[in-house]
Amino acid sequence: MEVLNNLLKLVSEPIVQFFLWVAVIFVIANVFLDRRISFWVASVGATYFWVKKQDPMVALRAWVVVLSVFLIVLMVKHLFNLNVALLLKGKKRCPMCWEEIHRRAKVCPYCHHSFERID
Ligand SMILES: [Zn+2]
Repeated sequence: MEVLNNLLKLVSEPIVQFFLWVAVIFVIANVFLDRRISFWVASVGATYFWVKKQDPMVALRAWVVVLSVFLIVLMVKHLFNLNVALLLKGKKRCPMCWEEIHRRAKVCPYCHHSFERID
């Protein structure tokens, strides 16, 4: 029961509600539209609704969170040459043909580039 109570407390947070709205609009839009367009429809739609009907500060705070996460991912990508999105999918990118391949692959299945180090 405690888990449920904590979950309810979390859902009652305005910023969590904002993200839930974005998620719901995204899922609905994704039925009819391309994923990238749905993302923008959901983001702009939820922000517009929040600024009009709810607290604009919540929308602002939510976007600060989104931008921070985006900046961290971008920084990790540039500083450590690590693509978080690919890592989460368990993939890596072949430096020769730029295809997404399995993280542990030793030979690229597309261009046969070898990842084995020749010492
Ligand atoms: Zn390749």
